[in-house]
Amino acid sequence: MLTRVFKLLFCASLLLLAVPSNAQQPAPGNQPKPKPEDTEIWQPVPKVVTPATECNAPPSDAIVLFDGKNIDEWVNVKDHAPALWDVHDAVMTVNKTGGNIETKRRFKNYQLHLEYKIPASITGTGQGRGNSGVFLASTGPGDDGYELQVLDGYNNSTYVNGMVGSIYKQSIPLANASRKPGEWQTYDVVWTAPTFNDDGSVKTPAFVTAALNGVLVQNHFELKGQTLYIGKPFYKKYDTAPIKLQAHGDKSEPMSFRNIWVRELP
Ligand code: MG
Repeated sequence: MLTRVFKLLFCASLLLLAVPSNAQQPAPGNQPKPKPEDTEIWQPVPKVVTPATECNAPPSDAIVLFDGKNIDEWVNVKDHAPALWDVHDAVMTVNKTGGNIETKRRFKNYQLHLEYKIPASITGTGQGRGNSGVFLASTGPGDDGYELQVLDGYNNSTYVNGMVGSIYKQSIPLANASRKPGEWQTYDVVWTAPTFNDDGSVKTPAFVTAALNGVLVQNHFELKGQTLYIGKPFYKKYDTAPIKLQAHGDKSEPMSFRNIWVRELP
């Protein structure tokens, strides 16, 4: 008897489930006709940013990291003393004995613009020819961070995952858009920082999009971890980090930077 009652209840519940949930809604033929307004979104309104009139100049909400006047936004990585790179003629030039420099400010997600010039008199070959780098998050001490390579890429052969436009030893650039030594070159970068769980495991990886001289070289590349010279990359938890510029230890003539600005992103 009980089994029969149970079967009846079971069948009744199946019937209930089978009733379409939109039973009270109009039949498909009577649906209101979709309007263009149904898919319009009006809030929140994006903030107003005034673009610069001059190409590559910082827009209204940029943090200027170097405008040619002084190097006050930067410190030496090794001792956090004022940066020792040489400021002259509205540019700053790598001081190899001064070492790497990094921003005083710390960043998470951002858009970055910078310009660099490898001297026309450059010597050396491969990784020893105009080597520097933009470390998109300088996560030291003891760690380099995440390097977008700077290197002479004009008729200068090297391993392709270490050439200019690469995420060093992780991602070959989509093109070689290098200008000749002696000419100013631009990098425009969008950095999406990795996020981490409390236990240090990766919640979301880092992504980078980058253009060299206006040509896309990295297209939302998912990083495998920090840049390593030897070994496989892996992530280490951090929250915010400075941006670092590399004073590479090679013997070639030092390169210069100018017009560096950043826009923080949500
Ligand atoms: Mg480098």
